[in-house]
Order: sequence, then C-alpha cells, then structure tokens
Amino acid sequence: MVLVGTQHPRNIGSAARALKTMGFGRLHLVAPERFPHPEAFALAAGADDLLEGAVISTTLAEAVAGCTLVFGSTATQRAVPMPELNPRQAAQQLITASGQGEVALVFGPERTGLENAELQLCHASVCIPTDPDFSSLNLSQAVQVLAYELRLAAVDKAGEVVERSPLDERPLATHDEMERFFSHLDVALRDIDFHKGRSGVTVMRRLRRLFLRAAMDEREVRVLHGILADAQRMARLAGERDPH
Ligand code: SAH
Repeated sequence: MVLVGTQHPRNIGSAARALKTMGFGRLHLVAPERFPHPEAFALAAGADDLLEGAVISTTLAEAVAGCTLVFGSTATQRAVPMPELNPRQAAQQLITASGQGEVALVFGPERTGLENAELQLCHASVCIPTDPDFSSLNLSQAVQVLAYELRLAAVDKAGEVVERSPLDERPLATHDEMERFFSHLDVALRDIDFHKGRSGVTVMRRLRRLFLRAAMDEREVRVLHGILADAQRMARLAGERDPH
C-alpha cells in the first residue's frame, strides 16, 4: 500500500492498523506531511512495526519503480482516461499479479486525492462504490475496505487449485521499464514527426493506456525499443538525404 502526501499523521496510524488486521506487513509513504509523529503511533494501536518499517519516498514514481502492476484509488471520476475497476476486480487482479512481481495500491492525500499526473502512472483506477452525493471516505477507511477485499481475494486464491499457463510465468515489465519505454516512444514520435505540429499530449495519453493494458513482459518492451531505435535511425537518414 502506498499513501501519497498524507496530511494527518492520525490517518497514517489508522491505515497501519487497518493493514495489519488484514495481514499486510508493509507500508510505503510518499512525502508525508508529518511523519514520524506520536499521533500516528497512538492510532496504530499496536501496528507499530508497520510504522517503524515504513519506506518513505519523495515521489510516487520512485515508490512504484519496481512494480509490475499499480492501481490508484479515487473517490471521484477523473479526466484521465483509464480503466476503472471496482474493489473486487482490483483485488483479484492484484493478488494474481502478486505471484509474479511487486504490485501496489496507491491512495491520495485527504484534501485533494491523487493528482492526474499521479493517476497516469497507474494501470487502472479503483473506486469504492459509495453514494454519489457523498462519495469520499476517510483515507484510512478506504484503506480498510480495499485491504479487506485483498484479503478475501488472497484467501480465495489460496483455496483454488490453479493451473498456470506458461504465459503467466513471464516476468512482466516493471513500472520503471515502462516509463523508460514511454520516454523513448515520446522522443521517437517527435523524431519521425508524427505529431505534425499538434501537441502530442492526447496521443501519448492514449498510447500509455494501450501499452499499460497490454501487460508487456521485459522481452516485448525490448523489441519495441528496437523498433523505435530503427525508426529514429531511418528518420535521421532521411533528414540527412533531404535537409529540408
Ligand atoms: N477529496 C478527495 C478525497 C480524498 S480522500 C477526492 O475527491 O479525491 C483520500 C484518499 O482516500 C483518496 O485519494 C483515495 O485514495 C481514497 N478514497 C476515498 N474515498 C474513496 C472511494 N470512494 N473509492 C476509492 N478510494 C477512495
């Protein structure tokens, strides 16, 4: 679980308690406003080990760099076009993917929630279906609900005899590798003049969504890097032949 920009130390404490009751041992904090703080320990009610072992990062990208699947939780629909999951669907996907690599579920700051740029780093958003007229849960209560769904999904999974296909065994590309691919794609699209003077923002957003949905493995990302590098080389050659 990753808590981004948490403002109230009490919420960090309650979230740690919520996580420990559901069997989670790790907490990741991105730029918390006040931490460590005695109020966090007071509300943790004994889940001190999670607070003491909390990993603190300065950015969300840094926190999820090694993850193969990242979901962001939001109370409201956002302008960012991305797949939306309910807690049950999200929990099943996270538990399945956790067999192959690190996964993360991200929570935003109390006042504003996750920023659009932070949501864009996620493969999908997760929304707890609340009353649309009163949709925002307290942060630690949202953590509790989603941690509970993850526990249910994990218990279900443990009871299943699963036959895994060889495809499930492939190591998925990490968040960091995907971001490096998106940077390369961005530069390559400019090099081949794909945007023709238009801003490439919308196209990049669509392409991010497409490639994040594909759940690519490391080898597939390498092939795409190769294609982009060749396209860049051809564009350079064409530019040298016809400097105008
Ligand atoms: N005003 C903010 C609310 C932030 S609440 C907003 O509109 O987004 C703090 C965090 O709790 C959110 O960023 C989200 O991670 C989580 N949260 C709160 N209500 C939620 C809900 N209904 N579904 C999923 N996550 C929720």
